[in-house]
Parts: sequence; C-alpha cells; structure tokens
Amino acid sequence: MQIALITTGGTIAMGQEPGEARASWRFRAEDFAHLLPLDAGDSLVAVDFSQLPSSHFDSTDASRLATKAGEARARHDAIVITHGTDTLEETAFYLDMILPPGKPVIVTGAMVTASQPGADGLANLRDAVLVAKSPATPGRGVLVVFNRDIISAVHAMKQDCERLNAFGSVQTGKMGAVNGSRVFFYYQHRDHVRLENRTSGRVALVKLHYDAEPEFLQCAFRQADIVVIECLGSGRVQPKLLPVIDRNLNKVIILTTRVPRGHLYDDYSYVGSFHDLLERGLIVSPLDSLKSSILAKLCFGNGKSYRQTKEIFEAFWL
Ligand code: ASP
Repeated sequence: MQIALITTGGTIAMGQEPGEARASWRFRAEDFAHLLPLDAGDSLVAVDFSQLPSSHFDSTDASRLATKAGEARARHDAIVITHGTDTLEETAFYLDMILPPGKPVIVTGAMVTASQPGADGLANLRDAVLVAKSPATPGRGVLVVFNRDIISAVHAMKQDCERLNAFGSVQTGKMGAVNGSRVFFYYQHRDHVRLENRTSGRVALVKLHYDAEPEFLQCAFRQADIVVIECLGSGRVQPKLLPVIDRNLNKVIILTTRVPRGHLYDDYSYVGSFHDLLERGLIVSPLDSLKSSILAKLCFGNGKSYRQTKEIFEAFWL
C-alpha cells in the first residue's frame, strides 16, 4: 500500500532539547517515516505541508491542505495527516466536506511533545497508519485517530485540553478503535454531501449567556454575512434578542446549541422558544457551532441559496 504522510505542524512535530525552556519545531514528515508500522510492499511518501501551530490555521490553510490531500489521494492509496490539536477538528471537518469518501484520510496529532514523558505522538501516528491500512476503512470519510479511538470528522471534538484522550464525540461516541494492531469499527454513519473547495463570507459565532446583550448581537450582524448562534438549551433565546434577529433576516442565521449533547427541539409556547425561531425560517444545525461555521462558509463560497444551505445543514440530522 502506498501512503502519503502530510505533516502540518502542531505538538506532534515539537520537542525540546535538555536545558531548553520551551518546545520548538523538531520534526518534519521525513523524521516520522521510518518509525511507522509498514509491511513489505508498503511505501510511505513524506510531504511537508507546513510547520504551524494549529492556532495559526484558518479556512484558507484548510483549503490549500484539501487541494494537497486531493492531489496526494490521486497518486496514493491512503493519506495520513498530522495536525495541531487546537483546530484539528475544524480541519478534519473541512477536509471531509471536500474530499469524496473512498480512499482513507486519517488526521492525528499529539498532546505531549516527543521529548516529554508520556509523549503520545508516535503511538497516535502508528495507529493512524494502521487505520489507513485497514481494509475496513475506505468509504468512511475523514477520520480522526487519537488515543486509540477512531472518530468521524463530522462529530470529532476536542474535549480535553490536557489529557491524552483529548478527542471524542459526545453525540455519537467513537466510531471504532485500535486494539493492539487490530482495527475495528462499531458503526458506519450516513454519508453526506461534498462541496467544492471554496469558501467566502465572514462568520460571527455568538454564544448566548445569562446577560447576552442585544447590541453585541447587532454588532455581529453588522460585520458578518453569516451569524452562528449558540442558543440556550434546545434552541431558546432571550426575548430581547428577537428584534435584533428580525432586523437581520436578510443574513444567513444558523442556530446551534451551547450544550454539548442533544439537538434543537422544544414544544414550549413562551416567547423566544424554538418555535419562535423556526417560524422565522432560520437554519437549524445539528452540527456543533465550529463545524456549522465552516459549513456555512463553504455553502456561501459555493454560491448556495438560503434554501439550499438550509437543506445541506438539515441533511446532517442523524
Ligand atoms: N499547540 C498545539 C497546536 O498546534 C497544540 C497541540 O498540537 O496539541 O494546536
């Protein structure tokens, strides 16, 4: 099997010499290549994409990476990508929205640099290669492999900013696992639409809280083309925000929840409840707010109408 290993940076590419106070860049793709579990007949091509902390990544980088991964996919049987964990879930989802299902695309990273006790990078990378090589993997879309778990890019979230089991999916659980050198999957999720690798529009992500200010929401609408609102509970907003929403119905408004588990739904009659928002024809997203922001920018960049955008979002209902 021919695998392309694309490195982008992140903790997995970092380490520090004895006596150095802080970690810095130490590893490029080539440095990992000979450490991986390849069988006779396997080959691995190392591709240095970038050496960036993922906090420096944005959708322009993700778009370039999607192009690079698409090209590599045409020539290789599987792609493994290393990435910083801070925005790994955004890049993985972006790639999953662009690359058609088929040949494996696996994204991984590390929580601990290679020179620290408990370094997890090599183990994660080894597992990523095992998943990439498994005959059960093709057709499952982009997968995040981390701490022995396999998580769909549609649902993967960074859930811990310290521990090695940093990634998971609160909605669906892991999709599979690596057990020794065995790879297995618990379920297959429904496939979704793919879009052209083009984004546009400015997105504001607004998390509602106890003292949400209508003026701040209005500011977001003034500056942005797309406003993603993390609602309270299963889709409620404070009544004082409704006039602001009403003044901006010409914008793309996406509703998600600030609660990690569950979706938007209620039967309440009081003002600001879910039915109030539904009546306004707003887009109700089953994806978390980070993925909703990316999907909205992709829909905008692909020239989708409001109705088409709504349909694309709603097709993600599990
Ligand atoms: N600073 C890192 C990043 O690039 C964190 C990590 O990779 O775990 O996101």
